[in-house]
Amino acid sequence: MRIFGKGFNFAQDGPGNRFVYHLSGCNMRCLWCSNADGMDMAAGKEYSVEEVIKEALSCRPMFFSGGGVTFTGGEATLQAEELIKVLKALKKEGVHTCLETNATSKRLAEISEFVDYFIMDFKHFDSVVLKEYTGVGNETIKENFEALNKLRNQLHIRIPLINGVNAKNPQGFAEYFAKYSSPNTVYEFLLYHEYGKEKWQGEYKIKDGFVSKETLKSFVDTFEAFGLKTITT
Ligand code: SF4
Repeated sequence: MRIFGKGFNFAQDGPGNRFVYHLSGCNMRCLWCSNADGMDMAAGKEYSVEEVIKEALSCRPMFFSGGGVTFTGGEATLQAEELIKVLKALKKEGVHTCLETNATSKRLAEISEFVDYFIMDFKHFDSVVLKEYTGVGNETIKENFEALNKLRNQLHIRIPLINGVNAKNPQGFAEYFAKYSSPNTVYEFLLYHEYGKEKWQGEYKIKDGFVSKETLKSFVDTFEAFGLKTITT
């Protein structure tokens, strides 16, 4: 398993105190990515599945407030075989598992079975626009959204809001979500920031991505009007 970052955080990537693994490599190229140093599959270091399981289990005393282990990236599902092995082993040991994914994997429904808390990014409802800014369209992402809403009784959708990319049309998002959303699905908006800007090699192309409080409120209000539950973490 190739990993470029790991460490504890509290309630940012799943509930409680969690040990978070950042798996190397990503198939998207989001122009605002704050982990650009991990996009390359060669980033970080190789660990065996057994090493990861052993390390994760050794962190158990620290999993307070409903915590556990989170896998994110990069895009963790690019290493689906290893990821499933680790998730299965941790579940068997009673460890709470979380996955944070860009939702482009065809294997998400299969992986979902071993994930207690599922966080799925959704960056744009329009495939052409998504492809322009990330290099990938949203057909599989939508298939996954629709399938996971049927399969799971918990789903956390994360929407990064970026001025000039996706912050103009809350209605477009809400209309799509409302068609498929289960009552247990929650929506979180992540406001654009530039914390990862210095990690980019070459030109950082987002020029004015910051989003106003009014824009955020328009998303929250629109979602709530469609009966979609919004959260902040
Ligand atoms: S999906 Fe996430 S890790 Fe991949 S490029 Fe986009 S923001 Fe970065």
